[in-house]
Amino acid sequence: MSLVRRQFLSRAAVAGSVLGAPALVHAQGKAQFNWKMTSAYPKGSPFYMAGPGSATDLAKRILEMSDGQLNIQVFGAGELIPAFEGFDAVRAGTVEMNHANAYFWTGKTSAAQYFTAVPFGMNFQAVNGWLYDGGGIDLWNEVYAPFGMVAMPCGNTGVQMTGWFKKEIKSVADLKGLKMRIPGLAGKVYANLGVDVKVLPGGEIFPALERGVIDAAEFVGPFQDRRLGLQKAAKYYYTTGWHESATVSELLINKAAWDKLPKHLQAVVSNASAACNVISEAWCQKANSEAMDDLVNNQKVIARPLPADVIKALRAETEKVLAEAVAKDPMTKKVRDSYMAYKAKSDRWSEISEEAYHTQVRG
Ligand code: CA
Repeated sequence: MSLVRRQFLSRAAVAGSVLGAPALVHAQGKAQFNWKMTSAYPKGSPFYMAGPGSATDLAKRILEMSDGQLNIQVFGAGELIPAFEGFDAVRAGTVEMNHANAYFWTGKTSAAQYFTAVPFGMNFQAVNGWLYDGGGIDLWNEVYAPFGMVAMPCGNTGVQMTGWFKKEIKSVADLKGLKMRIPGLAGKVYANLGVDVKVLPGGEIFPALERGVIDAAEFVGPFQDRRLGLQKAAKYYYTTGWHESATVSELLINKAAWDKLPKHLQAVVSNASAACNVISEAWCQKANSEAMDDLVNNQKVIARPLPADVIKALRAETEKVLAEAVAKDPMTKKVRDSYMAYKAKSDRWSEISEEAYHTQVRG
């Protein structure tokens, strides 16, 4: 948006408030919307708050695509509200939007887990198939309807990494008594296998791991983990994450505010979010591949997958933990059934398409 347009809009805002107009009037006689979006991540965080496909990039795309008609001010965690109060703030209408991950809201509704990542879940391609074309977004909105909110995907990290361990994990027995930073449902799974689970915010992981307050930690992937310096505190980097196979970022929107947007601005928000979903994941591909090369070749990290029998035990416990949540809540069952039915079809197709390409053709 040009400086002239910005000055016009700010003058229009002043004139509107003086005259008590119900909505600000845009240059072309269209209503002007000035919204706030909070985030669960601090200002400047790569992927979440800064860079291609981030919350800041999303707001910029919406401003440009709407020709300035929908202007969203972005706030990092702690700037307007604390990190994990986005759900309540959007619900109350204190802010119109929040940018985070749905699994932070599992205390409000356990079904929310499925809109971020479930252990042993779908990859980026498959989860997008479910969300956009398999009824996933409709279910997301159904889950949030009682709270007066709507949601959509607006980013994805791709597969995360299992995490950093000070000692080698050779068998399930090595997990017993291990103090590990890991949030959410995956933490419950580890706890069932004897892990002493700790939940720490990102900024506290490195000092805790370095001082031995914890023995292991997961965060995101090579780029984000290296930024925290985790490679300086633990030597073993267990790779492809069983716990988060494609972690979806959530754009959460107050339904009353959403309903006031004209259809074309709703389309701007939906399409800008879909663009950020793809663009953020594309950024992760490059950032993570470069960081992983550096970690292995320059920083001498030992990178490998978890042993097969450990994966098997984690899978068995995951099934129990997911079943417990389903037994307690019919909505969670409805979402689980839809997710797993889509996954079963997608897995069969993937075996003879993507997976076959990687294992039999690519070379
Ligand atoms: Ca993670």
